[in-house]
Amino acid sequence: MRRTLALCLLSAASLVPWLSIAGPPADEAGAAAAMPPPAWLSELDALYDARIRVPDLEDRAFSPEHWWDVAGPLASEARGFRTEQIGRSAEGRPLRHVAWGQGRKRVLLWSQMHGDESTASMALADLFRFLGEHPDLPIVQRLRQDTTLDFLPVMNPDGAARFQRRNAQGIDINRDARTLVSPEARALHDLRERLKPAFGFNLHDQQPGYRAGDSDRGTAIALLAPAYNEAREVNAARASAIEVAVAIRAVLEPYIAGHIAKWDDTFNPRAFGDLTSKAGVSTVLIESGAIDGDPQKQRLRKLNFLALVGALDAIATGSHAGLPRALYEDLPENGKVWPDLLIKGGTLALPGQPQAKVDVLVDFEQPLLERGGAIADIGDLSDRRARRTIDASGLYIVPFDPPGASADRKRKTFAPDRPAYFRLSRDPQGRDVVWTLAGDVDPAKPEPATTR
Ligand SMILES: [Zn+2]
Repeated sequence: MRRTLALCLLSAASLVPWLSIAGPPADEAGAAAAMPPPAWLSELDALYDARIRVPDLEDRAFSPEHWWDVAGPLASEARGFRTEQIGRSAEGRPLRHVAWGQGRKRVLLWSQMHGDESTASMALADLFRFLGEHPDLPIVQRLRQDTTLDFLPVMNPDGAARFQRRNAQGIDINRDARTLVSPEARALHDLRERLKPAFGFNLHDQQPGYRAGDSDRGTAIALLAPAYNEAREVNAARASAIEVAVAIRAVLEPYIAGHIAKWDDTFNPRAFGDLTSKAGVSTVLIESGAIDGDPQKQRLRKLNFLALVGALDAIATGSHAGLPRALYEDLPENGKVWPDLLIKGGTLALPGQPQAKVDVLVDFEQPLLERGGAIADIGDLSDRRARRTIDASGLYIVPFDPPGASADRKRKTFAPDRPAYFRLSRDPQGRDVVWTLAGDVDPAKPEPATTR
């Protein structure tokens, strides 16, 4: 028992292989060598897989009710949690504040302000389990003694129920921090005013197409210590937020070196991160992007958990103080956004039209699951890059009508902004089909290999 409970110093080199993704050349990751990962990382990584990860949250489009069914019991009074209802969403769903810990340093964490950005909510359930089920771990003892953690999880439950960004009133809560017309924004604002936390964590997901800086590498996680004024000055509170971001980078670097970016810090007077920063709270934004082969963001969920533990431990111990701010500042910014799918070099075969060799770009409503595809562009797109490319040379692109399309729609089926319905076929009539896109990609049908 004792052996399991002592988080001892281990190398991070033994981290589980499924988390490793294509890394950058050594020289680009080199800056991180200045900042070793925390001593407990390797052991916590293994413990996470065995005894922290909460089951039944594998589909990231869960309902808010399901999240509370799973996470609520983990945050019981017997385990040191206190839960209160602090309001209701526009549609009357409860907004709940969960608190844990007895320490002086107050930390407020809120998740899923955008209803379809659920990665951190899954990680918060894991954090509840970690804090409640492992009370004897030194790191949990440190957190209990030195911090009070205040959570407002799944804070846009109506949006979460629809798996959409905005709340039930159609309001983007993260543009409502100033006017506070939505009940969800009001609840977060009032909670922050009442608790007066020293630190705030603003937990989001971002588009999977973002690249890290000028590179071709996707951003797995982007960080931001938001500005509190247009001049983007750094006062003591923002400096602490930057240091905590550096502590987070040290945790993430062994897993996703080269895939960590930072957000542009232009001051936005309507956004929560910026206004929380303006209120004097050391605020850190964590944006989960994408990792190849992780459509349900379960790897990113784990990285969120580890990043949050790293940040909270740095706050509890005060070890963030004096961390080199350059390790935040030299992170590449989120750069260009790659579209989802590029079909390259096929021959468009529309009945009654001349055949034409074209490329086709497709964007998906749900990019990671490749569902809800719409045509983004048609033509010579040979200099475009996309998250996935299919070589259609030697094949015909044969469009077909989406089910239920009106006569008017049918005439405009193959055009930008229209649903993506076409086959890649060996013949222009679309009989010898190699691959089909019917709005959704069928994951059971692999993309065509070399076809010439
Ligand atoms: Zn967001």
